Amino acid sequence: MKITCNFCKTEYELKKAPKGMVKCAVCGHTWLPHKPVWQNTLLKFIAALCALIAACVFAFAVMITYKEKKAVETKPVYVDQASIQSVVQDNHVVVSGYIVNNSEDLQGLPKVIITSFGENDVVLTNQKFLPPVTLVEPKTTVSFNYTLSVNPVDVKRVAIELKE
Ligand SMILES: [Zn+2]
Repeated sequence: MKITCNFCKTEYELKKAPKGMVKCAVCGHTWLPHKPVWQNTLLKFIAALCALIAACVFAFAVMITYKEKKAVETKPVYVDQASIQSVVQDNHVVVSGYIVNNSEDLQGLPKVIITSFGENDVVLTNQKFLPPVTLVEPKTTVSFNYTLSVNPVDVKRVAIELKE
């Protein structure tokens, strides 16, 4: 183990931990060295643990960023999930929302697939709709409005996606 004189800071490399007081050969100072062996091991362990946690948090953050980026970047045309509304009109479920063209190019619109779910997430209907227009200008949105052929009482939620 390594001990350092408290007074003159001379370092000594000892094969064994000293039992009791030691005296510095340089300045004559005497002191009781603490035994740092287990502490070092513990500190190293904690440091390694911290590094591991930091690495995990970092990897996780990268993963989230990557996922978010992917969702936006790989799909130039997507349904704005926050814009989706489903209301009951004349005893029918009417689903409306916006399709976004987030790219710099004119984009063709794919079919809109609307799935309705009932109790326990059972699929009630899975309907494909033609978009209201065939093309969407760069950086613009197109609104849609579709009526589902399902009893409104049964519908618990709807999911909307574009046909790839
Ligand atoms: Zn000393």
